[in-house]
This record gives sequence, C-alpha cells and structure tokens, in this order.
Amino acid sequence: MSARLLTSVIAGRAVPGVEERPNINPSDVSDVLAETSAADAAMAQWAIDAAREALPVWSQTTPWERSVVLDRAGSEVMARADELGDLLAREEGKTLPEARGEVIRAGQILKYFAGAVLQPHGLALDSVRPGIEITVTREPVGVVSVITPWNFPIAIPAWKIAPALAFGNTVVFKPAELVPASAWELVDILNRAGLPPGALNLVLGRGSVVGPVLTTGVDAITFTGSVSTGRGILQATVDSGAKVQLELGGKNPLVVTDDADLSVAVECAMQGGFGSTGQRCTASSILVATAGIHDAFIEAMQARMSAWTVGDARSAGVDMGPVVDPSQLAQDEDYLAVAREQGAQVVGGHRVESAAAGHFLAPALAIGTAITDRINVEEVFGPVMSVVRVDSYDEALAAANASTMNLSAGICTTDLAEAAHFRRHSKAGMVMVNLPTAGVDFHVPFGGRGESSHGPREQGTAAVEFFTTSKTSYTHPGQP
Ligand code: ADP
Repeated sequence: MSARLLTSVIAGRAVPGVEERPNINPSDVSDVLAETSAADAAMAQWAIDAAREALPVWSQTTPWERSVVLDRAGSEVMARADELGDLLAREEGKTLPEARGEVIRAGQILKYFAGAVLQPHGLALDSVRPGIEITVTREPVGVVSVITPWNFPIAIPAWKIAPALAFGNTVVFKPAELVPASAWELVDILNRAGLPPGALNLVLGRGSVVGPVLTTGVDAITFTGSVSTGRGILQATVDSGAKVQLELGGKNPLVVTDDADLSVAVECAMQGGFGSTGQRCTASSILVATAGIHDAFIEAMQARMSAWTVGDARSAGVDMGPVVDPSQLAQDEDYLAVAREQGAQVVGGHRVESAAAGHFLAPALAIGTAITDRINVEEVFGPVMSVVRVDSYDEALAAANASTMNLSAGICTTDLAEAAHFRRHSKAGMVMVNLPTAGVDFHVPFGGRGESSHGPREQGTAAVEFFTTSKTSYTHPGQP
C-alpha cells in the first residue's frame, strides 16, 4: 500500500509541492507514515497572500464567532486523543501516554483561547485633561507566521495558532519537516471547525527553502526552535520591522540539596531529564547536587535508570521512546564523547538494539562534570544529564545561574528558606520547587531569559501581548 501523501493547505485547498520526502517512524525505520509533498518558496508566498486576503474577513468576525471555532476544534482534538496520540507517538517517538497527554494539552489550549477571546482586554479611563475619555483597545497584528520545531508536534502549534486566531490574526503555519502529519491534522480540524479559507494556511517544506519567505512580508513571526535559526530570524526582522517572538534553547539545572527528599529528587530528575526522551527545551540537563546527598542521589539514579525500559514508543510498558532521528542521535553521542574527554564518567548512553532499527539510546548520566564543561554549557536535547557536585547551597545556586539559556530551573529541598531563596534568586524564566523542570501549565506565561527567549511571553494571559497591538483613543464628547 502506498503511503498517504501530505500536502500544504493554502486558502482551504490541498496544494501539492515540488518534492516528496518520507515521514519515517523513529521507532521503526521501515514504517513510512506518509510522504510529504514539500513546498517551494513560491508556495510560501502564495500562503502569505492567502492569509493577507483572509485578514479583513477573519479580523472582522465577532469574538463569539472565533470562540466557537476554537472550542469546536478543541472538542474534536480531545475526542480523537487516542488516535492522534498514536499518530504523534508514531511520528515523533514519545511514548503513547506522553503523546496522548500532548494531544489533550492541545485541546485544552484551543478551549482556553476560546474562552480567553471573550474576556475583556481593553481599558477605559479618564484623561488627565478635563472632559476627555481614553480607551485602550486591542487589535489583531495581521498576518502571523507560526514556525515550530518537531518535539511537540501538536501542542506548540496549538499554543501559537490558537491565540493568533483568537485575537483575529490570520496564520501561515510551517511545522518542522519531521512532523508534518500531526500538523496536518491540527490544520484540518481547525479548518473544518469553521475557519474561512485562508485564515489558517499550512506550508510543508524545508526551513531553508520556505523559511526566508515566511519571515519576511508578514506582520509577526512566532518561532520555536534553535538559537541559531532564531537569531537569523531576529536579524531579518530588523529590516522588515515585523513583530517577533522567539522561544529558543534551554539549559536547565535541577538543584538537589542535602535537605531534599531523595525519592522526590530522583523522580524529578528522571521525569525532567528523560521524559519525552529528554527532547524538551525545558528538560533537566544539569543536576547540581550538594556534597551530603551527591553519592546517595547518584546511586538511586543509577538504580532507577537501569530499570527504565527503552523501546518502541507505541509499545505498552515502555518508559522512553527513541531519539527522533539519526542526526539527533549522533549529536547526543557526540556530547557524551565530549563529556568523557573532559573527564566525566558516563553511565548508560549506549545504543539499545531493536529488530526495527529504531534510534534508541539508553538514558545517560555524565558524572563528575564541572559547570564549565561543554556538556554543561551547550544544549544536548536528548536523554542525557550531567551531574555537578558542589559544597553548599550557595555554590549550587551559582552553578544553576551559570547558564545563558535560562528557561527553567528547579530545586529539590524540604528547607523552605532554601526554596524561597532559590525562587527569588534564580535567573530562569520558570522556577520549579520539588517538581521536574519540564511540565508547565497552559494558562500562565511560558518563557525564559538570556538567550532562551525574545519578545513577549507565550501562553495564558501573556499571549495577548504578542498577538495583538494596542490602540489608544482619545475622545472629547463636545467642543475641545
Ligand atoms: P530544531 O533543532 O528544533 O530542528 P531549527 O531551528 O532547525 O531547530 O528548526 C525549527 C523550525 O525552524 C523548523 O520548522 C525549521 O524547518 C524552521 N527553519 C529552519 N531554518 C529556517 C529559516 N532559515 N527560516 C525560518 N525557519 C527555519
């Protein structure tokens, strides 16, 4: 049976591209989910034009009309959580429970913004000059490019597309090349939920081909991906003047102090570091342990890691699925080699063989590293954590704040004063106390500091900042 062909969707119509590329299951490389018909630059421009044409229609709909579409789409996403979760696990490689959870999250986000659009977002106040009234209203920004990575194939697109549409913008959506099927389903659901043609367009294509078009000629760009691509986009917006929101890397520490509950610390590290195969920008990457707990913590981690089952993302009882593709697998192994060269002892991190030749890597812990080692400076983006031993809480805090990609930072401690101090003095955009660094809610701001983020925060009440532009109007009811 030939694989399903996925195409771009422009102005509500399926549009074939110029080259076909296989969409391969990372758990079983003989399983081709679909062929992607990849767009060229001209198609990307066509999608922008379609979004521009749809803007007067969609931006003039009432909040209720937009709410209904988002709510209907959210209901369908949730009703199909098993099926879409299976597709996501097959396409990206996170385990079925993780994939199903991500789909539910996408549904929740759509429903959250269905409600958010009905909330008041403006201000009405008196001028400091007598008799003059002021209103501050929110208006759509215009055409928004949504460019997303492969690690959350439905949730990240949902948390960008839902607020974009909710606040009356039209969208050109370019998902990562590795995950076109999940993206296609989301767009299909939203379009069938009642969007006018062109309000949401899907461009399947290589970032290097369609990306430069999608980052010029639009009014705003919301991007999640690598630091280097994000910096390039930022530079392009200097000329174009487009509004830009970037979510880039994270180099996230989890501090474990002498006062930690050991089992809580191990669970936080396992879930935060190896959940979703460690392929999350919020993944715990550096474990900073104080001297009194360090050895016991490492021993407990090793015991837990050796009982961790790595295998086909869709098999029952699997704790961790494959790495997403061969190049990411090579990157993970390269970082482990670098850590060894710099003196670390690496536990785990070996390839796990399978009949289906999936990209399986056992979870890895690099022990005995210094905070300045390369593995503690650069983002690995795999099931790899390193351990830094420190003498005191103060040293732990300094190590946790050494990163330049301050997305999420965690501390495991039962000492309230230590927890409060960490929350206040961490340089990260998100702080977790006795929780994994990964795992966030959809109704509160998401984002980092340093190199990690640029522009207004995503999600929750913060989303209105990026996806609208404010207008301040002054009215004098009579003669001035
Ligand atoms: P990752 O390491 O997560 O793949 P990338 O930054 O390479 O990070 O990719 C994130 C998204 O950016 C993907 O959808 C990719 O296709 C897209 N992309 C890649 N190059 C460009 C570019 N020059 N302009 C715009 N988007 C791009």
